[in-house]
Amino acid sequence: MKNSIYGLTIEQLTEWLVDQGQKKFRAAQIWDWLYKKRVTNFADMKNINQECIDLLDANYVLRTLEQTVKQESEDGTIKFLFKMQDGNLIETVLMKFPYGQSVCVTTQVGCNIGCSFCASGLLKKSRDLTAGEIVEQIMEVQHHLDAKAEDERVSHIVVMGIGEPFDNYSHLMNFLRVVNDQKGLSIGARHITVSTSGNPQRIKDFAEENIQINLAVSLHAPNNELRTRVMKINKAFPIEKLMDSIDYYLETTNRRITFEYIMLHDVNDHVLEAQQLAKLLENKRHLSYVNLIPYNPVDEHDQYRRSTPEDIKAFYETLKRKGINCGVRLEHGTDIDAACGQLRSKQIKKDKAV
Ligand code: SAH
Ligand code: SF4
Repeated sequence: MKNSIYGLTIEQLTEWLVDQGQKKFRAAQIWDWLYKKRVTNFADMKNINQECIDLLDANYVLRTLEQTVKQESEDGTIKFLFKMQDGNLIETVLMKFPYGQSVCVTTQVGCNIGCSFCASGLLKKSRDLTAGEIVEQIMEVQHHLDAKAEDERVSHIVVMGIGEPFDNYSHLMNFLRVVNDQKGLSIGARHITVSTSGNPQRIKDFAEENIQINLAVSLHAPNNELRTRVMKINKAFPIEKLMDSIDYYLETTNRRITFEYIMLHDVNDHVLEAQQLAKLLENKRHLSYVNLIPYNPVDEHDQYRRSTPEDIKAFYETLKRKGINCGVRLEHGTDIDAACGQLRSKQIKKDKAV
């Protein structure tokens, strides 16, 4: 199987072209066709010589994803389900905000972390996505926007789809460098957020990357007992280790971290947990933001229910009183299975049933 050209940074493409006896400057021209003019065929790259086009054709492809389902929600959220070359299904979500168009990408087929509330973790990881497959999700959505001819651009990216991005680190980093590069899509690093369940070593590695991407950490509980109950990864990486790596990240980058906190009724949503959370974040208040996420029910996880609006409000107010920056995440596309992994898991069940 040929690799997707979108997986190469401009430096990698340049190196490959030079190895093949081509001129260095071709890389910038090819990138212009890929990301500015956004052609869907190598043959459409008008100022590239035939020999080079043949080389590209022989070694790379422009499209490996096939769109199988597209669901559009009343609020404008669009969920795409793609079939990859090996038949695996992945999902990508486009959300419209007042500040721009944001895309949520998938990084793995399934997820090995297996959090107890999440639809993606129901299926063990079968493979990592390549960098090209992750970039291609953005390109598919951009092509969808281009087809509407309203001159709309993907302006924001959240790495919050299926998978644990830090468990696919090198492909993730290539993806981030490609979409961020000014010669290509040029999506600002401050407009990109990577969400992780929190492997401390990877958080430290990420702190050392010379790139201003935002980091969000899925915390979901303020003490080890509760966190291990909802996220079994906490056994391997308990809160103390996680917080050490976060302190390192904050010292190294001086950038704000978002803590994600799913509100599960009568599990982690009492005022006591809000107080514990405020205490946990006390010494890094100035660089923390807590995102309270109303739980999106998953059929297979019927032990959980969404917190009541009153409990969410009381939790929020407790955090605020203690000086913690926080907000309640607005929901998008609840009428179209927009929670992480839900469309995919439904489609797989349907496929099995036929
Ligand atoms: N694996 C990474 C990124 C993908 S999940 C992580 O866990 O951070 C992205 C976010 O969606 C996480 O904060 C996750 O906890 C949240 N999430 C998963 N299932 C959810 C559900 N059913 N309802 C609401 N949020 C959910
Ligand atoms: Fe994996 Fe994130 Fe889902 Fe946990 S919440 S199972 S880490 S995708």
